[in-house]
Amino acid sequence: MILCPRSSWLGTTHKTKPQEEGRTEIMPRYIVIGGGAIGLNTAYQLARMRSGSVTLLEKGLVGDGSSSRAGGIITGLLWSETGVLARTISLRLYQELSADLERYGYRFQDVGCLNLFDPESWTEREELLPLYDRLGFGYEILDAGQMRRRWPDLTPESDVIGLHDALGGYSEPHEFVPALARRCRDLGVEIRENARVDGLQIDSGRVVGVQTGMGVLEADVVISTVHAWTVAFMARCGVRLPIKSFVHQRYVSSKLPERASIPAINANPYGGYIRPARLGTTDFRILAGGETEDREEERVDDLAFRMTGLSAPESVRGQLSTNLTPLVPRLAETLWETEQVGLISFSLDGEPVLGTLSQLPGLVVGAAFHSGGFAYSPVAGLLLAELAAGESPSVDVSSFSPVRFSAQETDAYLATTVVQGEALRRRH
Ligand SMILES: Cc1cc2nc3c(=O)[nH]c(=O)nc-3n(C[C@H](O)[C@H](O)[C@H](O)COP(=O)(O)OP(=O)(O)OC[C@H]3O[C@@H](n4cnc5c(N)ncnc54)[C@H](O)[C@@H]3O)c2cc1C
Repeated sequence: MILCPRSSWLGTTHKTKPQEEGRTEIMPRYIVIGGGAIGLNTAYQLARMRSGSVTLLEKGLVGDGSSSRAGGIITGLLWSETGVLARTISLRLYQELSADLERYGYRFQDVGCLNLFDPESWTEREELLPLYDRLGFGYEILDAGQMRRRWPDLTPESDVIGLHDALGGYSEPHEFVPALARRCRDLGVEIRENARVDGLQIDSGRVVGVQTGMGVLEADVVISTVHAWTVAFMARCGVRLPIKSFVHQRYVSSKLPERASIPAINANPYGGYIRPARLGTTDFRILAGGETEDREEERVDDLAFRMTGLSAPESVRGQLSTNLTPLVPRLAETLWETEQVGLISFSLDGEPVLGTLSQLPGLVVGAAFHSGGFAYSPVAGLLLAELAAGESPSVDVSSFSPVRFSAQETDAYLATTVVQGEALRRRH
């Protein structure tokens, strides 16, 4: 076992930096596992805090997981108080990131996010309006005529209701992920690719580092952001988490002569989501995606698993066009040119898993961000960094705690095999 000097809470002594009056300040070493949007945002926030050294370990290349495959749609109009408060911060951080990462080729696309409902599903959503009012999160309720007038390329049926989030929009993953990685490096984060973490180094019940093919790397705090690999990874240190993963796919169309006049849309009544897409400043396309309801969960038992091995049935392309063309008729002018297939993960109650574990001090976990991990990533990074640094999180995340599930319910959930349609479905 590697022995690490220890102090209270998560931070411990290693490197020190001189301070005024000859005192020395503790400089914790942080290790972030996983080079997706959540891990990169965590490293970014830690680096900006300047409270210690930050090393990010990615088993493949940065962006190897779901983050580079995401639709990148972002809305703040979620279904729980914690979710709305967290997304409010995420949307603000996306604006800040947009300014900070502009020179690296990233810009948040603030086109707004339109959440669509049929009369049946609207009844449930309408009950959340007082929550949005209480938290001061702005929204607009639009009928079909209003939506058609505002976005000429949008033709919702007459009974469809729109809940518009003017602060929402989308991020192009192929711009965001590499830009954030470059910014992290420039802020002093050491990003090691092809560096798989095989387990946690534990001494006297405390996490003191990680085990890798290159040996043990010591750390004062380890932050795990390994998404669909979380269940397999945490099982290695005896922690069981009720999280399931499902294959999910999205497509980008052939080129349009000009930008489609649509916002980012969570189009549940149409069985998918759709938004403008851009490959460059003058290359306009449409991005759309959706679930495969009957497909069984995907169990990731092997840390070596890679998403490149996943595929989607050919029929999904045609189904998406059939479902979404009535909403966006300009889809008929296009073909699906590229496909991205990845995994989305849901916890037993559908809320993210974010926090510390009393049985494993020195570890912070962020996982199960449903189909909204890209949208959550800036605030998730902030919250994970705050917890790692021993600070109070900007949002009370007790309802996201990894220890909120009982052992019995966890075991029962993991013992079942479910299809996607049976799992809690939450969009972005
Ligand atoms: C098709 C699709 C569309 C989506 N659309 C949206 C959307 O529109 N909006 C939205 O908000 N979300 C969307 N999502 C969800 C979103 O992509 C994920 O929730 C988010 O990317 C998760 O980020 P992450 O950093 O946790 O995971 P990842 O990006 O998967 O990163 C985890 C990383 O950890 C690495 N890793 C794993 N194990 C180890 C180990 N032992 N050692 C070192 N490294 C390891 C992996 O290689 C991987 O790179 C979509 C997902 C898919 C698949």
